[in-house]
Amino acid sequence: MISGIKSKYANYRLNKINKMENSINGEEGSIKAAPNSPKKIMPDKLKITLRTLPKQLSIAKNMENSVKSLKNNPEKPQFSADADFIHRFEEYALSLGIDKIKYVKIPPELIFRDKSVLFENAIIFIMEMDKPAIDKAPSDDTQSMSVTTYDELGKKTNQLAEFLRENGFAAQASHPAGGFVIYPQLAQQAGLGYMGRHGMLITPEFGPRQRISAIFTSIENLTFANENVHSWIPDFCQKCSNCIKKCPGNAIIEVGSYEAGDLITKIIKDLCHGCTICMRECSFNKRDYNHIKSKVERII
Ligand code: SF4
Ligand code: SF4
Repeated sequence: MISGIKSKYANYRLNKINKMENSINGEEGSIKAAPNSPKKIMPDKLKITLRTLPKQLSIAKNMENSVKSLKNNPEKPQFSADADFIHRFEEYALSLGIDKIKYVKIPPELIFRDKSVLFENAIIFIMEMDKPAIDKAPSDDTQSMSVTTYDELGKKTNQLAEFLRENGFAAQASHPAGGFVIYPQLAQQAGLGYMGRHGMLITPEFGPRQRISAIFTSIENLTFANENVHSWIPDFCQKCSNCIKKCPGNAIIEVGSYEAGDLITKIIKDLCHGCTICMRECSFNKRDYNHIKSKVERII
């Protein structure tokens, strides 16, 4: 039922934004967005669905609001923000519970095929997922916390888009539970962290434990990232493989070859039942980022 609700709004968003003037569309070669929910949910589907129903409905409502609120965009938006405004915006975001913010220009190949964004200037947000709940995965508490974090971040993203509009800028909010872009790669491009073999973003602050959302905005003069200091992570992943070994569904597979420099991992959606064990078992959930980095540096 829930995925039905989300699909309805997903189609609503898609049709509405794709037809807007000047929208930037996903390329032919871009990947398709994954379905919103895994086919099987552990450990007790009915129990967890009932427990999280209010949050799931809130997620659907906020996804819808992110599109409906586009009508509030100023007719003639501003394209430049001064340092004082950016400071106020970031302070407001942090006061809402956002943990980190960075800026990036969206490469077109990171827009899902058949989806569109209104601006290439992206503000990326991350919100931490609770560690004790992740450490209990797979459990009802893990699923409940995961849905709650999606919902909280989605609401805050809409609030921040509204804040931009009230100050003369145009904004398109992208909900963490069903966005328009490939979030982990975009957050990597923004310099927030680097993707691990499980396909999730790994950051110094939270390892793999975060949700990601975005706002696409008319503001052209943001401090866009041009480097990533976390690019050592794939080499560490190559020696680790914990997530691949511990995945009960054998859902994480490798394609390409490391020697050829084109090794990437893929999650087979049909084999993944959303247990979150890969997040729990990630070395960056068990140990501090800087501890792992210093060990890697000692070996080199
Ligand atoms: S990839 Fe594997 S470990 Fe991760 S959520 Fe899916 S089934 Fe669980
Ligand atoms: S478990 Fe290991 S291989 Fe998998 S993403 Fe985390 S560090 Fe990388």
